[in-house]
Amino acid sequence: MSIALTDITLTYPDGDGRLTALDQVTLTVPGGTLTAVVGPSGSGKSSLLAVAATLITPDQGTVTVDGTPTTGLSRRELTELRRHRIGIVFQQPNLLPSLTAAEQLQVMADLDGRSARKARDRALELLDAVGLTDQANRRPHQLSGGQRQRVNIARALMNDPTVLLVDEPTSALDHERGAAVIDLLATLTRTRGTATLLVTHDRTHLGAADETVEVEDGRIARHTSATV
Ligand code: ADP
Ligand code: MG
Repeated sequence: MSIALTDITLTYPDGDGRLTALDQVTLTVPGGTLTAVVGPSGSGKSSLLAVAATLITPDQGTVTVDGTPTTGLSRRELTELRRHRIGIVFQQPNLLPSLTAAEQLQVMADLDGRSARKARDRALELLDAVGLTDQANRRPHQLSGGQRQRVNIARALMNDPTVLLVDEPTSALDHERGAAVIDLLATLTRTRGTATLLVTHDRTHLGAADETVEVEDGRIARHTSATV
């Protein structure tokens, strides 16, 4: 389990020219470890995650998931890869208002053709893992912001991804609840063995990370390992 970005350059159209959002970025995240990505607004953090998620194809460079380069895969193959190997957690949970917490997860599995019973069991197991055993039958409006973000994280794990990509999951939470969500991500990374990339704007969360990458103007300005 791992994700590797090799020499990634990404540009966007910008007036008559191009804006360079990522500039020769190289980064490997081994399974069971969490790499935090920090940097000012506009430095390229979300672009980095979108490329890692194979949602955007870079101008140059390779994304390698579990040792398999994704370059040259068809859209359909990329969709399959994302479905089975990559869990994505965005800033806003985007839960479906009419579904219970358990159903938010089960919907993911239905896409995958698992039996309904197995999907239900797995959903309940994951809700338990994120501390929501008693909230399984609640709908989003009956959950706090922190609980909704936990459902969001559990949902991303439904298909047992090897790579977990998380973009500023604490931006809508107070500090204490935010820290609890980060701790949860670190624990899940270890217990499930995911290669986790976590974008955060809050440097106090960096203690939970194995490695920290600081992005400035689309480049990796610093890459530090936690001292154990
Ligand atoms: P961050 O997540 O660190 O705030 P982003 O990756 O969102 O940074 O953005 C990096 C740069 O790319 C910024 O200058 C931003 O304005 C630009 N950008 C991001 N998305 C697009 C897009 N879809 N089209 C054009 N420019 C974009
Ligand atoms: Mg962003």
